[in-house]
Amino acid sequence: MDLKISRKTILKRCLHLLCPNCGQAKIARSLIDISDKCSNCGMLIKRSNGFFIGPICINYGIVAFFLICPTLILGFSGVLHLNLALTLTFIMSFTFPVLFYSASWSFWLLIYYLCLPKELYNNRPDSSDDLLFDEDERL
Ligand SMILES: [Zn+2]
Repeated sequence: MDLKISRKTILKRCLHLLCPNCGQAKIARSLIDISDKCSNCGMLIKRSNGFFIGPICINYGIVAFFLICPTLILGFSGVLHLNLALTLTFIMSFTFPVLFYSASWSFWLLIYYLCLPKELYNNRPDSSDDLLFDEDERL
């Protein structure tokens, strides 16, 4: 089945932090305020309870494994002064999760809709009933 919105388009839109469905609106109103729905097409960004776990895992993984761990390794191996490394990790542990929050949401939407592109509103078959997408009703 051909998709109206291809995976390549989904990738492009999500990398620009845009709605994967229409590509016309940002998914975040501010650095830490993710929209519930797209302001242009109305697609749910926060699909249902528990959907926020994905962005949290991505955010935590990026900060812990790509920032904190390397800095601590540099500190404990003597490349950086240990006090400097500990200070940097302390500062990074509070600032980077906030800075990456909207990007982690967009990355989560990217993963979700790359795996399940038919769940994107514009990719739904015309004959589909809303029972397939009952998360709309739960909010
Ligand atoms: Zn949209």
